[in-house]
Amino acid sequence: MSVLACDLGGTRIKLGVVENGRLLASEVLTSQSDQGLGQALDRIADGLVRLCNSVGTTPQRCRGIGMGFPALVDGSSGRVLNEYGRYSDAPRIDLQRWGTARFGLPVALENDARLALLGEWSYGAARGSNNVAIITLGTGIGSGVMSQGKLLRGPHFQAGNLCGHMIIRIGGYRCVCGAHGCVEAETGSIGLAARARESREFETSKLAAEPEVNYESVFRCAAAEDDLAIAMVNHACNTWGAMCVNMIQAFDLDRIVIGGGVMASADMILPRVRGYVEENVFATWGRVEIVAAHHPDHMALLGCEALLAEWKGS
Ligand SMILES: [Zn+2]
Repeated sequence: MSVLACDLGGTRIKLGVVENGRLLASEVLTSQSDQGLGQALDRIADGLVRLCNSVGTTPQRCRGIGMGFPALVDGSSGRVLNEYGRYSDAPRIDLQRWGTARFGLPVALENDARLALLGEWSYGAARGSNNVAIITLGTGIGSGVMSQGKLLRGPHFQAGNLCGHMIIRIGGYRCVCGAHGCVEAETGSIGLAARARESREFETSKLAAEPEVNYESVFRCAAAEDDLAIAMVNHACNTWGAMCVNMIQAFDLDRIVIGGGVMASADMILPRVRGYVEENVFATWGRVEIVAAHHPDHMALLGCEALLAEWKGS
């Protein structure tokens, strides 16, 4: 039986129909997340109906709706617990009621990084490991952890989710979470251009001639031996390496999957992160694998099947 899948991001909403690890159909909507979640639900519903039609089914013949959300969520009640200026009405919306009223279907809700981990665990790079974490490198830095075959959620639903807010540089950049020197504040793509322009080397760097300073241009200029870009790549990869080491020490992992848009430069990221981890980790039992996600664009959509299967209401 198919499931309907929805991955709500800050700028895009991905929709899909998934069955046995195959994405039968998918589409992407603009999120307009600054206008809230309520305005998006009708478009999401219309999109799911369109996708069902395209594969010859109907929502009512599906098992349920899996939904990933970019914030902390209480999956047991289907509630979003907080927001970071995106979908600001989400904590007041009852998604269960919406799913029942619109389609007669249950809605299983989860944090987007945890859902991505479930997707990779079921059908991708986390398969075969029950002590595995995911790191998503993008606008922000997301994370999720599975320990002994169970997703870590914790009493306040934040276990394993906030590793992007591990502090790796005392007195570092201020983060949206309120702390200084978090992984996200130091390496999230959202502040990358501002951090580059702060450097005294910026005006003489190849980056100054780029139409946009983003990770694509930073990795490209680093490959062309630009000093500032090389320093930024080293800082970012060492920071992600330190994040991996901290997560390994905290959660006793045997594998970490790295995904997210920044991993378009995986060939430059992975060797550096692996090297940092090998130099610094304290894992007495053996070697922790650091691997790239297999389904970087659809991790969370694929996770919706496993989420609905484990969800109490399905
Ligand atoms: Zn933070």
